[in-house]
Formats: sequence, structure tokens, C-alpha cells
Amino acid sequence: MECNRLQLAEKKKEEVKCKAVQEKFQRFMTIDEVSKIFDLDKDELKKICSNYPMRIPDYYLSLIKEKGDGVYKQCIPSSAEIYDLCGEEDPLHEEPEHQKRKNVPSLLTHRYPDRVLFRISNSCAMYCRFCTRKRKVGDITKNPTWEEMAKAILYIKQHPEIRDVILSGGDPLMLPNKLLEKIIKAVHSIISKRENGIIRIGTRIPCVFPQRITEELCDMLKKYHPIYINTHFNHPNEITPESKRACELLVNAGIPVGNQTVLLKGVNDNPETMKKLMLGLLSIRVRPYYIYQCDTVKGANHFRTRVEKGLEIYKSLRGHTSGLAVPQFVIDAPGGGGKIPLLPEYVQSIDKDKVVLKNYEGNTHEYPQIKEDY
Ligand SMILES: *Cc1c(COP(=O)(O)O)cnc(C)c1O
Ligand code: SF4
Repeated sequence: MECNRLQLAEKKKEEVKCKAVQEKFQRFMTIDEVSKIFDLDKDELKKICSNYPMRIPDYYLSLIKEKGDGVYKQCIPSSAEIYDLCGEEDPLHEEPEHQKRKNVPSLLTHRYPDRVLFRISNSCAMYCRFCTRKRKVGDITKNPTWEEMAKAILYIKQHPEIRDVILSGGDPLMLPNKLLEKIIKAVHSIISKRENGIIRIGTRIPCVFPQRITEELCDMLKKYHPIYINTHFNHPNEITPESKRACELLVNAGIPVGNQTVLLKGVNDNPETMKKLMLGLLSIRVRPYYIYQCDTVKGANHFRTRVEKGLEIYKSLRGHTSGLAVPQFVIDAPGGGGKIPLLPEYVQSIDKDKVVLKNYEGNTHEYPQIKEDY
């Protein structure tokens, strides 16, 4: 009990410090400012934000080139969010009551055999309007306590099959370095003893608030290798000297940085924009990892495209540009089915003598099978 109180006090102190750090780098836009800059109805904005919070770093806002562009749509609240009657609040069934495995602590999603998602923060530097977790991000009453974190860490310890822990959120890098290190250190001390143990961090901060990526942070992270980061860029205009600096700093600390993009209507739903984004990422040493079909989230259905669009974009990349720029196109299946890859029809037929394939130009090629008794 005493110990717990001390830990809470420590966390509180860290939070205050974190706020100070953020304020040094960062200003968040107010509703007043946003309504003035873009000539939006203030009461309507307030109404939307009382359902789904708004947070936009002034850096990110500065990337908007015109009202309604791909950067604007990701951060400026839209009435479509509150008049959306379709979709689910928790489409991926991440909450404990939806999970197949029982007795999983509230901060963990243990869907796959050897890895878990560990949500260590409930806040983000920006609240993306299309977020799958919009049901809860930004709600301070849902911020994880140290007690909950300790339960999650204990679960990882008691499940030797887990070798890959993905720190997620919200955004894990919203935590102050000290608290973040405490968590990573605890996870690392368990995982590093397991065969092929790794830690991953899923964070949008290199894209929306790159000033948070400092040498101090990288020096801390690199003590706990192997660490991988997956970040989240959705539009070529997000690739800037600042985000380049942030990604390169991470890569120079020996952390491979991958990227997950969400296919979003009006943001990146055409081959040219997506190709520019993928190549731009490689140029800042970030490897495209996944393109997601947009989840069926209540309040974000206006961002969904049809699946054919994703396949068309995938076809426009594969073969036409560096394979490194071609991520997997996946649907995170509603109801907790996990990520399922989609491919255009490259395989035309398979029989015992040959496989008939179609290449990126649409030409047919054959590959002879090895005889079964060879
Ligand atoms: C995405 C995800 C993972 C990681 O999947 P990879 O394909 O290994 O990157 C793990 N657990 C959950 C619950 C996820 O949603
Ligand atoms: S940073 Fe990620 S978790 Fe946070 S609001 Fe954006 S998409 Fe959601």
C-alpha cells in the first residue's frame, strides 16, 4: 500500500515534468484558434470535441496547406463524426470483455500466441479524427495507473510464450522518459531472457510531434535493444525536415523504424499520393510495414474507402517501384480476427505441373512445379 502511494506520487511528479517538457516544445491549438483560422462554427466544434477530444500540436497544424487537404482532414474535427450512426466503438475487440483468452489484464490484448499489445498511455500528441480507439483516447479517467501496469507486467512474466511486447496506447512516448524507462526496463528484464525476445513501440509522435524525439530519449531506448519502432505517417506533406530528423535520430540509435499507414478517404486514397508517401518514407530511412484498410469505427466511417481502392493502390506499387516501398495491405478483421493480408490476383492457377502467374504489367508467366517424387 505504502509502496503504491509512493509510486503514484512519483508518477504525478513525472507528469508535471512531462507537461513542462511538452510546453517547451509544443503548443496545442485551442478551439477558438481553430474556429478562427478555418472559419468554423465554434459551437459545433465544441459539440464535436465534447464527444471526441481535439488536440493538435501547432507544428502539425502548420503542415496544412489548404482547408480540407490530407493533413487538415486528419486533425480538424468534422460534424460527420457525431452524426455517424454506423460502426462499433471497439471494432477490433481489444477490450478485455471481448477477448477470447480470459484473465488478461485490462492493459493487454493477447490475441496472437507469442506477442501482446500493452497500452501504457491513453493520451496522444494529436487526436486523429479517424482513430480506432477514439472511444477512449484522451479520456483522462482512463489513464493507466501503475497498479494496472504492474498487473500487465506480471502477466507477461507468467506467460513464457510471450516473446514480443508491443508498447502501444494512445501514444507510449507521451510518458515522461523516467516512467517510460521504468516500464521498458521491467519488460526488457523479462523478455530479454526469452528466445528471440523483442520490444516494439507503436507511436505517431515522429510524425505529429517530432520535437519529442531527443538524443536523451534515444540514449535511454538503446539500452534495451532489440527495440523496434512502428510509426504512423499518412500523407507525404508529413515528411518534413523535423520528422526526418526525428526518424533518423531513432535509426541512428540502432532502432529499425517501420511505418503503418491507414488508407483514408480524401487523405491518401489514390496511387500517386500513396506512392509519394511510401518513397518519402524510405528517403527518411523508414520502412513501410502495413497499409490498413480503415476500421469500422463509430465516428470515423466517413474516412472509409472501398476495399477495391486499397487493392488498386497496392497494384500500382508492386513492381512499379522499389519492393522496399511496398508494405503489406491488411484488414484488421472486425470482431478481433487479427490482421489479414490482401493481395491482388497474382496467382491465376496452381496444379500439379505448373503455377500460372500474372506479373505487374498484367502478362502471364508460368512456373513449372517440381515433381512430387523428384
Ligand atoms: C497488430 C497487433 C499485433 C502485432 O501484429 P504484427 O503483425 O506482428 O505486427 C499484436 N497484437 C495485436 C492485438 C495487434 O492488434
Ligand atoms: S496517435 Fe494513434 S492512438 Fe493516438 S489518436 Fe492518433 S491514431 Fe489514435
